[in-house]
Amino acid sequence: MSNIKLHDREFVRTISNEEIVAEVKRVAAAMNRDYAGKRPLLLGVLNGCFMFAAELMRNLDLECEVSFVKLSSYQGVDSTGAVREMLGLSESIAGRDVIIVEDIVDTGLTMKSMLETLEAGNPASVAIASLFVKPSRLQVPVTVKYSAFTIPDRFIVGYGLDYDGLGRNLPDVYDVVE
Ligand code: 5GP
Repeated sequence: MSNIKLHDREFVRTISNEEIVAEVKRVAAAMNRDYAGKRPLLLGVLNGCFMFAAELMRNLDLECEVSFVKLSSYQGVDSTGAVREMLGLSESIAGRDVIIVEDIVDTGLTMKSMLETLEAGNPASVAIASLFVKPSRLQVPVTVKYSAFTIPDRFIVGYGLDYDGLGRNLPDVYDVVE
């Protein structure tokens, strides 16, 4: 298996695009069941979510909408979690069934702060869908209702995820070589 280099680091391929697509289809099938008769609003978190969001959307056979938000860079961290501002949500989420679409949940601080922000908009429900979850890294209890892969504590790139800006275009996922 050929390794790749991004900036100064070497990466080894660990998850193929075929495996990713199969798991995203599984997640979409669960959503199709859970949201039957509803019209969920998928809320993608840029930049990392774009490939996952696209694959997920094309496998949903529900009436659904999509919108994207961006989180500001860290403003600071206090004892209750990350302080990050959510930018770009133009529509009202009052009464909506919101599904956050995230690339990876690591410490969970990003999702915790985003959930708090969204709750203030009085949605009917909020669920998290994340392509990857690193359970051993979670610092706060965050329920990821839909996860495609649970992975060990390792740094990954590809399929939307970057290393310092590079690697998002890779169809497969790679682990950093320590
Ligand atoms: P959390 O707030 O859960 O610690 O951080 C989540 C964010 O950290 C993700 O949206 C992603 O931007 C970044 N992140 C966490 N782990 C990884 C990883 O293994 N690879 C990449 N490329 N980004 C990661």
